[in-house]
Amino acid sequence: MSTTQPHWTIGDTTITRIDEVELPPETGPWLLPHATKDVVGRLPWLRPAFADADHTIRLASHTFAVRVGGMLVLVDTGIGNGKDRANPAWHNLDTDYPARLTAAGFRPEDVDLVILTHLHTDHVGWNTRREAGEWVPTFPNARYLTHRTEWDYWASVAMDEPRLRMFRDSVHPVHESGLLDLLDVPAGGLEVASGVLLVPTPGHTPGQVAVRIESGGERAVITGDSIHHPVQLAHPHLTSCVDIEPDQAKRNRHHLLDSIADTGTLLLGTHFPEPTAGTVHRDGDAHRLVGVAPSTNRD
Ligand SMILES: [Zn+2]
Repeated sequence: MSTTQPHWTIGDTTITRIDEVELPPETGPWLLPHATKDVVGRLPWLRPAFADADHTIRLASHTFAVRVGGMLVLVDTGIGNGKDRANPAWHNLDTDYPARLTAAGFRPEDVDLVILTHLHTDHVGWNTRREAGEWVPTFPNARYLTHRTEWDYWASVAMDEPRLRMFRDSVHPVHESGLLDLLDVPAGGLEVASGVLLVPTPGHTPGQVAVRIESGGERAVITGDSIHHPVQLAHPHLTSCVDIEPDQAKRNRHHLLDSIADTGTLLLGTHFPEPTAGTVHRDGDAHRLVGVAPSTNRD
């Protein structure tokens, strides 16, 4: 399948980034308040790709479309169009995301699996699209997968009105259509397609998973929100303002980075700006990311 979208190849598997939006500059200081300009300024390898000249970190929203064997797998579904959101960066978007997805060879009706790394607003948005005033599943023939722990957590807490609205327009429609599978994901991971594993990385949310992809002796990891930005490779203790269990998030971030450092594993960040992917290298007692540019040539 030819594609002009940015993509990386792992053995026989192709991972294509489907861009949604670059997030506004105020997002970084809000999301990672301890990634101050001082902290960022002392990490010159973050610039120019991952931080601006004024030492503000940059973040993006995109999803990953994975072609593995004959299967089409989408990892997360971004913010979505036309959603009523409290955060102005997410409110009532009107992007060309569907056209970019189709251009990558992922017609919505052909998608087999939609992996939801967790049930936050910016990861479930394109679960649904509006049709005749109703929110209907965007991927009508897909199984949508998430960790049962994630579902159970949100079912157990009193959600505020904006979050309830998000569940009503983006999560409940796929559940009520019988398309949502709640999976028990063991600590060692759960294979959901050939060489595609969900790996628990709780902390940001209780059921957050990363996605590991293995093919032909090569390996990649898609972060979900276990890591928001490459600055956390140098400072894994930097937690986001929306982590539910920050200490657990730190421990799991450490563990994930240690497990892939200096192995050649491609790390793809769900919110990392261009080039989005890289390899993790030990750097003193921490790590740094060496960017790996995507291919955009026709395969
Ligand atoms: Zn996120």
